[in-house]
Amino acid sequence: MVKAVVGANWGDEGKGKITDMLAREADIVIRFQGGANAGHTIVNDYGKFALHTLPSGVFYGHTTSIIGNGVALNIPVLVNEIRSITDRGVPAPKILVSDRAQVVMPYHILFDQYEEERLGGKSFGSTKSGIAPFYSDKYAKIGFQVCELFDEEGLRDKLESVCATKNVLLEHLYHKPLLDVEELYHTMMEYKEMIAPYVCDTSRFLDEALKAGKNILLEGQLGTLKDPDHGIYPMVTSSSTLAAYGAIGAGIPPYEIRQVITVCKAYSSAVGAGAFVSEIFGEEADELRHRGGDGGEYGATTGRPRRMGWFDCVASRYGCRLQGTTDVAFTVLDVLGYLDEIPVCVGYEVDGEVTEEFPVTWKLEKAKPVLTTLPGWKCDIRGIKKYEDLPENCRKYVEFVERHIGYPITMISNGPGRDDIIYRESPLKK
Ligand code: GDP
Repeated sequence: MVKAVVGANWGDEGKGKITDMLAREADIVIRFQGGANAGHTIVNDYGKFALHTLPSGVFYGHTTSIIGNGVALNIPVLVNEIRSITDRGVPAPKILVSDRAQVVMPYHILFDQYEEERLGGKSFGSTKSGIAPFYSDKYAKIGFQVCELFDEEGLRDKLESVCATKNVLLEHLYHKPLLDVEELYHTMMEYKEMIAPYVCDTSRFLDEALKAGKNILLEGQLGTLKDPDHGIYPMVTSSSTLAAYGAIGAGIPPYEIRQVITVCKAYSSAVGAGAFVSEIFGEEADELRHRGGDGGEYGATTGRPRRMGWFDCVASRYGCRLQGTTDVAFTVLDVLGYLDEIPVCVGYEVDGEVTEEFPVTWKLEKAKPVLTTLPGWKCDIRGIKKYEDLPENCRKYVEFVERHIGYPITMISNGPGRDDIIYRESPLKK
């Protein structure tokens, strides 16, 4: 049985916490897309951790963590991350890396920086982890699969050919130092040593695991609105953030994904550029940012302050639909306890017309939020375990959001810890 944990919005919805919580029951947790450009924050008995590459199951002794073929694998980052958790007393996790995952090359990171510099004020707000150049090369068929590190002759030939084209750009477009084939080859040999203990045919491993009835979790990065097809193109990430892609990025049959848990945060936040209709500014935003998440809404990878906004029913309904949501996990609800009234975005006004459908990007840029206001509950809801014990206005907020997004909210997260969770029977659950 495979479950996917994915985001409905721009990322940072609290997927790490939900995955970590569900991983208690999982035999295998898989990262199937993205790279070290986003992070998950997890709070558990060992402390607080920001993971960028490792799946959120690494803290349990019983889970196998898999880096699937769809991931942009930064080998030194992965190895350092493993070391950083074992240094803090976490037992060495069982990790498998797909032999078909592709390697983030040192020049991918350089090209990401150089291109953002070149674009200046028109940049994408990249985290400069090399993700866009990596996926460009993957689909241009000049990327390197992990298995290629073990074919030394083939590797050297391919490096020569790739460096020749990269060096043209470095010299004439970016005016930067050129790549040296020997130096890169040497780095690749170091990468090979680092990754060798983990490499295997992960899709075959998963086939066996599925036949043996194991519980498998797919852990998504970012959210629907960052998907290259269905998101706010071009202000998106470079690999699909949808649960459906989990089948491809992990190498499993699509029909094995039985439950799609889409994580929605009780308010909105976004990093990077791009349309964000329910965005708020000034003191109102500063206060929500400061109180948000666990210790403020600042990027887990970059430390950048996140852009803040009210809950957006239009974007979240669309985000849940594209994920194929079976369950919504509604997170960080405790943070809203300070507000007298809580605005919620229920529609977009585009050129004088109000719509509840999420528009294409150029129309989205013109959209203005249609807000409604719900009463706050003015108390701390952390520690509450039963839905009926939540204050009435808090339940009304949850039920209002559920009606507007049209997908069942079956989990409510009221704190960063593993046990800060309320399960709920939803009238929308068949
Ligand atoms: P992810 O990338 O989707 O996993 O999200 P992040 O880890 O970037 O952001 C979620 C932040 O909120 C982290 O700091 C979590 O510890 C924290 N968090 C998750 N769920 C809750 C919750 O229900 N309440 C509070 N206060 N914080 C939460």
